[in-house]
Amino acid sequence: MKAAAVIPSKRFIGIVQHPEPRVTLPGEVKLRMLDIGVCGTDREIARFVYGFPPDGSEYLVIGHESLGEIVETGAEVVDLHPGDLVVTTVRRPCPYERCIACRAGRQDFCYTGGFTECGINGRHGFMTEFVVEERKYMHRVPHELRDVAVLTEPLTIAEKAVSEVWEVQRRLPWNCVRQKEGAPGYCMNALVLGAGPVGLLGAMALRKAGFNTWVYSLEPASSPRSNIVKSIGGMYISSSDASIEAMSSRIGNIDVVYEATGASKLAFEVAQVLGRNAVFVFTGVPGRKQRVEINTDELMRDLVLKNQVLFGTVNASARHFDAAIADLSAFRKLWPGAVESLITGRFPLEHVSSLLTGNKQGIKSVIEVS
Ligand SMILES: [Zn+2]
Ligand SMILES: [Zn+2]
Repeated sequence: MKAAAVIPSKRFIGIVQHPEPRVTLPGEVKLRMLDIGVCGTDREIARFVYGFPPDGSEYLVIGHESLGEIVETGAEVVDLHPGDLVVTTVRRPCPYERCIACRAGRQDFCYTGGFTECGINGRHGFMTEFVVEERKYMHRVPHELRDVAVLTEPLTIAEKAVSEVWEVQRRLPWNCVRQKEGAPGYCMNALVLGAGPVGLLGAMALRKAGFNTWVYSLEPASSPRSNIVKSIGGMYISSSDASIEAMSSRIGNIDVVYEATGASKLAFEVAQVLGRNAVFVFTGVPGRKQRVEINTDELMRDLVLKNQVLFGTVNASARHFDAAIADLSAFRKLWPGAVESLITGRFPLEHVSSLLTGNKQGIKSVIEVS
């Protein structure tokens, strides 16, 4: 069968012939792949700066943002059936007994670094016709989410980040004055850096949690991305119109920053306007190796005197996949059309090379395998 793959030793990116997998264990499930999202990680893999094939394979089948339809289940799989739609998680646990995180099913916190990731590190991904995986790594998706469920995986980044923000902010033993059911952040300000898919999905998660949500990004004040921000009740500030200082004085106390650019210079400049008792969440991985000058005295003084927390987070565990699936439904009810508008292009598998190496276009491109 066909698969989109990279061969790092030959600097090849394109279609390879990959053996069609079979269900051999009772806990396994076979999927016909439907939609696979393309993201910055895939583009880095296509530049051969990231990712490696499984042991014994020359190539790596790419693709980690997936939606598949079940075509066959092993004898022990009783709660999923052919025709069901599922999203499969990406990271698999390391094999080491001493890794208490992986042994607890939380390989997103792996201590050893010996984990693998489908389509990224040491394990084939989902940009192919059929995939066989263990049931325990799959999450069922309602059929009404068929057209947007490929966004589940990028949304898990925000799900984990927001849940950890609340873990940290349990240190603040008070609530917004007029508590609103299910929206604990409604008296607080959240700032999202970047209006890519991770940023925009993060903005939706923060809006749903009640935050006054601002998105600061490169695009002009009137653009498809800023329109999405406005459609979810957020506020958009273009970095070409407002400096970081001007932006921060418009917002007031910045209670949460959700960084989704991977640009370390911007991130640490914004960290200097972080508010009191606030949390800064890093989700991006810097690609460049630039040196940035920052005033570490000021940064450290603010960390102490303003009770600030800076933390990084890598997606995600099973609970965040379930939360993301539930939130995709919730976002659609709250803001009809907003989630759909993140997917700006659908392409056949054969277009993978130009999609990954050409100029980036639109917000989220999706490969339609079938
Ligand atoms: Zn991705
Ligand atoms: Zn581990």
